[in-house]
Amino acid sequence: MRIEPRYQELFEPLQIGPVTAKNRFYQVPHCTGMGHALPRTLAAMRAMKAEGGWGVVCTEYCSINPTSDDHPHPFAAVWDDGDLANLAAMADQVHAHGALAGIELWHGGSYVSNLATRLPSIGVRSMPSRTEPIQSQRMDRSDIRALRQWHRAAATRARLAGFDIIYVYPTHGYLLSEFLSRSLNDRSDEYGGTLANRVRLVRELIEETRDAVGDRCAVAVRFSADGHGDAHLSADEARDVLGMIGELPDLWDLVVSDYYGEEMATSRFAREASLEDRVAYVKRMTSKPVVSVGRFTSPDTMVRQIRRGILDFIGAARPSIADPFLPTKIREDRIDDIRECIGCNICYAYNYRGAAIRCTQNPTMGEEWRRGWHPEHVPAGDGGSVLIVGAGPAGLEAAHVLGKRGYTVALADAAAEPGGRVTLESRLPGLAEWARVRDYRLGQIKGMPNVSVFLGSALSAAEVREFGADHVLIATGARWRRNGVGRCHANPIPGLNAGSVLTPDDLMRGARPQGQVTVFDDDHYYMGPVLAGMLAGTGALVTYVTTEGKAGDWSQHTGEQERTQQQMLELGIEIIVNTTVDGFDGEFVSLACVYSDRKHLRAASTLVLVTSREPSDALYRELVSPESESIDLKIQRIGDCRQPALIVHAVYAGHKAARELGEMPEHLAAKRDRTVI
Ligand code: ADP
Ligand code: SF4
Repeated sequence: MRIEPRYQELFEPLQIGPVTAKNRFYQVPHCTGMGHALPRTLAAMRAMKAEGGWGVVCTEYCSINPTSDDHPHPFAAVWDDGDLANLAAMADQVHAHGALAGIELWHGGSYVSNLATRLPSIGVRSMPSRTEPIQSQRMDRSDIRALRQWHRAAATRARLAGFDIIYVYPTHGYLLSEFLSRSLNDRSDEYGGTLANRVRLVRELIEETRDAVGDRCAVAVRFSADGHGDAHLSADEARDVLGMIGELPDLWDLVVSDYYGEEMATSRFAREASLEDRVAYVKRMTSKPVVSVGRFTSPDTMVRQIRRGILDFIGAARPSIADPFLPTKIREDRIDDIRECIGCNICYAYNYRGAAIRCTQNPTMGEEWRRGWHPEHVPAGDGGSVLIVGAGPAGLEAAHVLGKRGYTVALADAAAEPGGRVTLESRLPGLAEWARVRDYRLGQIKGMPNVSVFLGSALSAAEVREFGADHVLIATGARWRRNGVGRCHANPIPGLNAGSVLTPDDLMRGARPQGQVTVFDDDHYYMGPVLAGMLAGTGALVTYVTTEGKAGDWSQHTGEQERTQQQMLELGIEIIVNTTVDGFDGEFVSLACVYSDRKHLRAASTLVLVTSREPSDALYRELVSPESESIDLKIQRIGDCRQPALIVHAVYAGHKAARELGEMPEHLAAKRDRTVI
């Protein structure tokens, strides 16, 4: 098997304790929204990464006991022998492609609420859970003994299930990090007080895991290289921990203290390899292999991490989600084929919502088992012709998949450049990486003689009919509403004709109002805050008004909300929450509290409405109207013109329509993953 010489180091095997990884590509543990609930779906998804060349593929957080239940988030579980078959399915399928399987044993401590098991949670001291108005039970010595037994039993089961790497997990605020914390750990026995005492439980679990399974399995520790903040474990203390137990495990999997701001940050707030200055020192503290993340998508960056002795393994969660075949593509020097993660955190958001993982860049993510979708292969089609109107994310994805299926594809767009909303939005501050959605697809299309792109081609219904394609996909997108209709207002806000009323489309096409600008956000995701920030940056005096309680409230699911609000405050934007706009006369906006009848006026010369979007479906509706002469045309609408939603939805819609075009209905049925009694 030829390996591109420039990237040779990435394909050198490396020993991890008693096992050997075939290369340096390491899928670190990451959530999936599947966990114990969707075992077949999960195993097939992990197997796809192994097929794509990852040398190590890990589970998500895997609970060792019913006192650690993160319901409604579907975590993995190894509570008893009944879990073995599901876990073994994943390990076996990962092994089938020559990868090692890792399992992240986990106890959530005070953080979890045990909504499903209804057991008291346990903590080093009684502390509130993350979400519920309840607290944990303070652990006594017998609880610590029990925890050690659970962990040992879980490790033994994990080995039985076939796992090669078994984690001890003292970070991310879970139980073992509580023990490391100088503030939370107020014990006066040998588990509290000095750092050596606070580390004792972690040390015992590493030793006991090795004792239980170390003959065949490696023991890994996931650890925050710069601690957990001065109140808990300072950066110096983290270094001291490594000084104490650096040689104990077989591998260090490194994260950093700022989870949302750095480790899991979106591309709005962090770039590739941004953890480097925090984790680089660890290689000097241990002879054991080190893995860490950094949303690595560039093979040159990856090689440099290895050559410069920063890391031994290139860790990835998101890049492996966006492109399960990233290692294979690097090995074969097919760099342009890499579907680079755009750092939007939609993958994380849906897990957080309790739903199976999905990905903006990779529409097959999570559909490997249910729909049998492969990220690199699509079934050949019948060779007909397809006209796609609209080259946004939906149209581009459909064009590239249909091109791969062998159809003759014409992709037309009224605009002078392709990409639709992706092109426009990627020019907003912080969103440049989103252009990768467009660029990957254009790159794929470029090499396809059967796909033609026609820009500057606004098509009418007559022209669509005249074109005479066998199939027509309408992907004409949506426009932001200029009348305030949205969640809060079912009817247009009265009297918006006076003064300057703008929409995100106007701003994305270059409008830059000055003076006092009110941005009204009834959408609750990134658009309102990003536009407010952009306008503040170009000199406007911005007031941001939202019907929710926080700026960009939905972005709590992508882990961006705090950074978003912080950034807005730093830019001098006034934030008014729980408030709607119910009038504007060109000089004042009328603001109304969403809970009471209280109203007040604010001076504003411009009102920007970020409320909701109107599908641009006039072309579709004309083509399918009963009077239409194109009644026999096979027409579908896809993406935002069917359902205004996120880019992830548009890409998925384009993919689904393209993959299913011309297929028999029975081939399209999705399988259901469920527990059967
Ligand atoms: P989606 O997210 O569903 O892909 P976008 O809004 O990103 O939708 O893209 C829609 C694209 O469709 C835009 O680039 C727009 O220029 C194009 N478009 C809309 N109407 C027409 C039309 N009648 N003919 C050609 N292109 C059109
Ligand atoms: Fe990357 Fe976004 Fe896909 Fe997550 S959803 S892997 S952040 S592109």
